[in-house]
Amino acid sequence: MKLARYKDADGTHFGLVANDKIHRLTFDGSAQALIAAWDTMQSDCAAALEGDGQALSAVALLAPVPRPGKVFAIGLNYADHIEESGMDSPSEQIWFTKAVTSVNGPFDPILIPKVSQTVDYEAEMVAIIGKKGKNLAEEDVAGHIFGYCVGNDVTERMWQHRTPQWSLGKSFDTHAPIGPWITTADEIEDPHGLDIRCAVNGEIRQSSNTKHLVFNVWQQISQLSQAMTLEPGDLIFTGTPSGVGAAMDPMVFLQDGDVLVTEIEKLGRIEGHLTNES
Ligand code: ZN
Repeated sequence: MKLARYKDADGTHFGLVANDKIHRLTFDGSAQALIAAWDTMQSDCAAALEGDGQALSAVALLAPVPRPGKVFAIGLNYADHIEESGMDSPSEQIWFTKAVTSVNGPFDPILIPKVSQTVDYEAEMVAIIGKKGKNLAEEDVAGHIFGYCVGNDVTERMWQHRTPQWSLGKSFDTHAPIGPWITTADEIEDPHGLDIRCAVNGEIRQSSNTKHLVFNVWQQISQLSQAMTLEPGDLIFTGTPSGVGAAMDPMVFLQDGDVLVTEIEKLGRIEGHLTNES
């Protein structure tokens, strides 16, 4: 199923997307609570899908998990991106956090901050945790994933690299757009075979496939779970392929008015318009 959050004239709701329509799901609570209760929602989902629904084009899609408990992202996780970054292939997974306040809707503006104008894109598949877990073996990870969505690990490059710790440069407001909805894990036979693309103003900048992940999704989430309890709704950004603006010669950063499109096979497409922070 495809679980979305959206706004219409009545307010903000959860809904199921099918055939260009959205079917409202009656649930009062947070996205985390809905994901945690998902196994008990099957009859509600079936009932919702039987209804007429609303045209998807008539609603505004919102971030499916607007305020997750945590957002973690892995660095240097596609071989081609490691090469263009001039870095060594890491023997250990490199994790950083993105502030939960950086989460942004799939079609919301992406801000170029007042303090710096070196904003760059990183197309990424995002895994959403479905069940609480600690010390997960790699073979048990799939059962803890609720689903997947499209994300962009938007980055303020100067702030990322002027200190050894990347998190601040990764945490600016609006710099974690996700969506357009969550495709539940049962619809994705293998998350390691999906085409991933990113375009700026229609020009393709990144084009790869999640089969090129250095550390796969199971390894990533197993590793994170050795350190911390993963909880429903937690977001895991799984790495970006080559083609980022900072690796172009000369470097090119996003500017006011640019249109950033990120697409992943089977998961959909998100589109953010770059806007100077006022
Ligand atoms: Zn990234």
